[in-house]
Amino acid sequence: MPKTERGNEGTGDYSALDPCVHCGFCLPACPTCLVTADEGDSPRRRIVLMRSLERGEMRPNDPGLLEHREGCLGCRGCEPACPSGVGYGRGLEAAREQIYQARGLSSPARLVLGVFRYGKIWRTLFAMARALRATGLPGLLSGKGRLGFGMGMLASSSEMTEQAEKRRPVGQQGTGAEGQRAGGTAGHLPTVVLFRGCVMNALFSHVHEATKRTLRVNGYRVIEAGGQVCCGALHEHAGDVGGARSLAAANVAALEGTADFVVVNSAGCGALLKDYGRLLGSDAAAKLAAKVRDVSELLAERGPRPGAPIGLEVAYDAPCHLQYAQRVHEAPLAMLEAVPGLRLRILPGSDRCCGSAGIYSVLRPAMARAVLDNKIASVADARPRPDLIVSGNPGCLMQIGAGLRAARLPIGVAHPVELLDLSYDEAGFYE
Ligand code: SF4
Ligand code: SF4
Repeated sequence: MPKTERGNEGTGDYSALDPCVHCGFCLPACPTCLVTADEGDSPRRRIVLMRSLERGEMRPNDPGLLEHREGCLGCRGCEPACPSGVGYGRGLEAAREQIYQARGLSSPARLVLGVFRYGKIWRTLFAMARALRATGLPGLLSGKGRLGFGMGMLASSSEMTEQAEKRRPVGQQGTGAEGQRAGGTAGHLPTVVLFRGCVMNALFSHVHEATKRTLRVNGYRVIEAGGQVCCGALHEHAGDVGGARSLAAANVAALEGTADFVVVNSAGCGALLKDYGRLLGSDAAAKLAAKVRDVSELLAERGPRPGAPIGLEVAYDAPCHLQYAQRVHEAPLAMLEAVPGLRLRILPGSDRCCGSAGIYSVLRPAMARAVLDNKIASVADARPRPDLIVSGNPGCLMQIGAGLRAARLPIGVAHPVELLDLSYDEAGFYE
């Protein structure tokens, strides 16, 4: 039986589910329920099963329970739809931990999560992925099948897309120099330490660079801190709370006392970092968690400063872990509105999960693809078609990007901060 640092007991706190009156208002907000039109795939049914588990009426390895519990994306899209204020996510965490303690992880989940616990392994694997990406083959091999979709995901982790590059005036390529154009002296600027993460660091280092440059333009002093590891979100979502705690503790040790803010540009990582106080139950973790901000929040606090015009048709897709877990809605839009000329739209269904959901798309590819197909259909129907879909989470960017490639839609994906960075570059802020 897997051990956590606090022993084998589950938190067992299902009380957030207490207000459920089984009204069903949450059903139309649930992406899996929309795919199957089956009550069994609804939040309401899952709550009934979780309560049965809590009361000991179902065994943690009951096949029916596992099927429906594991079918849940954990997106928390059902929470804002609930008039009773049910905290579905908290109940789900309790159920996941209880199931994990009773039966451990499935073999595929153990394999994937094991990789992220050991820096040497994931760094080697991601270095191989980067080398493959650099050949350009993933873009050519992307498509509908499992291999094609995986290649599409890797290709979608690339730097700013062709669609955006076409809009860059000739002769105005960025120099890479990170100009400091904010008012005040360096001594009085708020300090921000960058949370690097694992996937972001390995495949989206260009987003880290864009984050640092845009924050500096908006009056922050950005620093780096060594000793960081994976945030632990993937482990926590799988119920491996002990694994998540040991990673979180390492990050608290690496980041505490380093800066006024911790900036995160991955919604999934940010949601867990903001929850480190609850996860670790220590003052140091709570203090650090209170300093965590999504990059959009820090930039929105400063306006942010407008850049040069970019004539792109852009659709914003809100990551679940930003809008539902962190309740950050307006800041990413404020960041994009600082780019003059950008035609920004919110497409129908953009607030629904894309199917990525941590390692869900690896463990349950068929449902993940079915959920994604609804989103891609909405993009395909949009007139005019967007040039870019922007979203502040690596899993969403790769999942949506692969879906667009599989559907042969000539639409790119990018992190919102990349657009602001491009706008600043064209304004000459980095020269
Ligand atoms: S979670 Fe909320 S919306 Fe869904 S059935 Fe329960 S009370 Fe109704
Ligand atoms: S977390 Fe997402 S997938 Fe799970 S029940 Fe709620 S809306 Fe449905």
